Amino acid sequence: MVQDCTSSSQPLWLQPETLWPKIRLQTQHALECGSLQPIPTTYKWVEHNGIRFVVRILANLQRKIAAKQAQSKTFNPFLPYDPHLFVTDLSPTHLVLLNKFNVMDHHLLIVTREFESQDDFLNAQDFQALALGLSEVDGLAFYNGGFKAGASQPHKHMQIVPLPFVPDGSRLPLESLLLENAVAEQAGANPRLPFQHLVTRFEKLDFTQPKALSMDLLEVYRHLMGSLNLMSLDSTKPSPGAYNLLMTREWMGIVPRSQDSYADIPINALGFAGALLVRNKEQLAYLQEIGPLTVLQEVGCPA
Ligand code: AMP
Repeated sequence: MVQDCTSSSQPLWLQPETLWPKIRLQTQHALECGSLQPIPTTYKWVEHNGIRFVVRILANLQRKIAAKQAQSKTFNPFLPYDPHLFVTDLSPTHLVLLNKFNVMDHHLLIVTREFESQDDFLNAQDFQALALGLSEVDGLAFYNGGFKAGASQPHKHMQIVPLPFVPDGSRLPLESLLLENAVAEQAGANPRLPFQHLVTRFEKLDFTQPKALSMDLLEVYRHLMGSLNLMSLDSTKPSPGAYNLLMTREWMGIVPRSQDSYADIPINALGFAGALLVRNKEQLAYLQEIGPLTVLQEVGCPA
């Protein structure tokens, strides 16, 4: 349970144990009024080098095209946001929205109240917001740092999808591989994964102290980013490269990125958790032919 900051009299802090009820209520409402427009998919397991990936296939291309068109407009969908998608205030700096075009149920966006750039480094307030979100939702938190990392909006937004990831109950397809060489509190990489990455396993996150926790998480992030040459010692300088951040209650990982898609298959942070999305059966067939690891290798950086 989150205690220190949420017991404050400021109304903007998330009140403990209120996030899930609010998510369910708002989802119901947003579906009824048409603001929430889930993108229907089917899914298939695709194996490559003995590694299993979950691949979602769009059931309805039209809706995805509509979603893309909505995203390509110059307006900022998070400022002002659609009030029908508003879930709750999280902190004085961040609030929670439902992802309008969700592929997975209860896909949350954690956006900054004021405009900040998606190219900015994450800061203590961002990690505090992520910690508050993860304290109530056992999920995968992620950040697509820059357009080459799969971001479609320039306004800073982090995301959380609840676990398990797949309808059959699988938590995260690539999790055990990502963690294979990540000893507690030390960054590690798995040579079986053909793209640069670095993962740190947490000892145990103390969600009762979100402020202290956010500083610890920030330190881990800076260490991983620095080790991958994505951040200089002077962390105020703009980020030299795109990257994905993935984080659960147990670990944090960073994956540097070279491009947003390969063979027209777009990849964001979820790809490096083992979940891909294709447009149609033809694209699925091509993905099966070349293998998901090839796609991740091409959109990542050489290991
Ligand atoms: P990303 O594409 O990773 O940058 O994440 C941005 C997300 O915002 C996408 O997954 C979109 O589905 C979602 N989105 C687009 N427009 C809106 C909107 N008006 N309100 C809430 N979410 C939106």
